[in-house]
Amino acid sequence: MASRAPCKRSAAESLDDVVARARSCNHCASILPHAPRPVFRVHADARILVAAQAPGMRVHRTGIPFNDPSGDRLRRWMGIERATFYSPSIALLPMAFCFPGSSKSGDLPPPKDCAKIWRSRLLVHLDKIELTILCGSYAVDWHLSALHLTLSEAVARWRELPAGVIAIPHPSGRNNGWLKRRPWFESDLVPELRRKVALALKSVPQHRLSRLHQEGRHSVSQWAGPT
Ligand code: SF4
Repeated sequence: MASRAPCKRSAAESLDDVVARARSCNHCASILPHAPRPVFRVHADARILVAAQAPGMRVHRTGIPFNDPSGDRLRRWMGIERATFYSPSIALLPMAFCFPGSSKSGDLPPPKDCAKIWRSRLLVHLDKIELTILCGSYAVDWHLSALHLTLSEAVARWRELPAGVIAIPHPSGRNNGWLKRRPWFESDLVPELRRKVALALKSVPQHRLSRLHQEGRHSVSQWAGPT
């Protein structure tokens, strides 16, 4: 697999430890437009990793990732409902955890230091991931760094990507033009994405999936970063 090799797990740092440290991180305080509010979601039993860009303003306010029209479109592409999307079987780990601010052309890029500081330390604990969904160019650059693909190349060459990895554009309405020029994305790749998502979730025992759904329904409010 040409994607990044997993780093070795530090015996001294449990998943709970690194989550707690990341949630209280203020490394970028001097460059962010608001006080840092890291928003991400991980669970040791996660089977699917959604690697997106960074929280937008609405996510910054609510602390709930993809609780917006982009999230609705992403869930439709994945073929799952909110209860599954927000269950512990799915990890939501953007390339940066805090809202980076915006300009006239949209949200600013995710601060690079976030992935440098936190990403490998969290990912090393997610050893049950069967499908990684790279959502946008920043995730493609980091996860498939050895392949040197643009986002458009990574999406178009989906059959050639490492097993268990699929690349998609960010589901934001800003990408409607991109999607319109590539009708094969909806007709060919979205069905493949749904098939892969269903397959990854199938490995979760049904009784456990049912329990995870219940946990997902009841825990959304707990996912906000520190206020
Ligand atoms: S973006 Fe990441 S590194 Fe920067 S303050 Fe937020 S959690 Fe820390």
